[in-house]
Amino acid sequence: MPKSPRSSSIGKALRADGVQVADLDTSATPGFKGNRAAGEKLLAERATVLSDLQEMLYANGRSGDPRSVLLILQGMDTAGKGGIVRHVIGSVDPQGVDHAAFGVPTAEERRHHYLWRIKRRLPRGGQIGVFDRSHYEDVLVVRVHDLVPPDVWGKRYGEINKWERKLVDSGMTLVKVAMFVSLDEQRKRLAQRLERPDKYWKFNPGDIDERAYWPAYQEAYQAMLDRTSTEYAPWHVLPADRKWYSRLAVTELLIGALQGLELSWPKAKFDIEEQKRRLAQA
Ligand code: ADP
Repeated sequence: MPKSPRSSSIGKALRADGVQVADLDTSATPGFKGNRAAGEKLLAERATVLSDLQEMLYANGRSGDPRSVLLILQGMDTAGKGGIVRHVIGSVDPQGVDHAAFGVPTAEERRHHYLWRIKRRLPRGGQIGVFDRSHYEDVLVVRVHDLVPPDVWGKRYGEINKWERKLVDSGMTLVKVAMFVSLDEQRKRLAQRLERPDKYWKFNPGDIDERAYWPAYQEAYQAMLDRTSTEYAPWHVLPADRKWYSRLAVTELLIGALQGLELSWPKAKFDIEEQKRRLAQA
């Protein structure tokens, strides 16, 4: 399958190297020059490409290939993580997708190491895993709210890097996406949740309190990008004010990851001609 120039241009444009979170233009559309209509048209086309590649990954998994893809979505409330799950992941066959959302740890989860609950939800061979929040909360919300002392969260960056190295070595491709909306855009999205009865369920009064911590979150996100964007598991920084762009960008990142696996359809484990003969007589 030929590599798409579009996919690599968006993918490259989102690499976290040197990005300053505080200076980010969250309404930008890096690597894509078109408008919303063009973006939505392209997304519809690319969703089919993603779906075909995902089917091939799944088929290989069924044949014993241990490789998998793990999409890690991080972002403040209203950044659009749920929309990515519905609109991007929703375009592929659900049996090949393993979705996990990580909220405030339960009492049981708190009794274990912070990676315990994460390890239990890793995708198996052939699957696309999707993490809506992840182990990175343990260096984000935990850091911002002093949930553990600095020397405890401080050690986690190196620990996460080492652990992710092992995952990559075992055949997992990590697609790490940090989504950023502006404070203004977040206000709009929260206001919408208060205007529409079909959005009330998404509203959490605590989200308004978290807005006061925006600078602290920016600092924590910056440290996360600086310290855990590795050559084997790089972060992508996604300006997320425009939902259509976010969805297109994540679609392209997943396509890029799957193309990188250079998949082909599994060979038949039976004699095709023989089976055709048998079928003709059956
Ligand atoms: P969402 O708000 O994404 O719909 P939830 O309300 O279920 O989902 O959970 C998200 C909340 O859980 C966020 O406020 C997040 O900061 C918090 N959270 C996630 N992981 C942790 C963690 N390890 N420690 C403390 N809080 C966490």
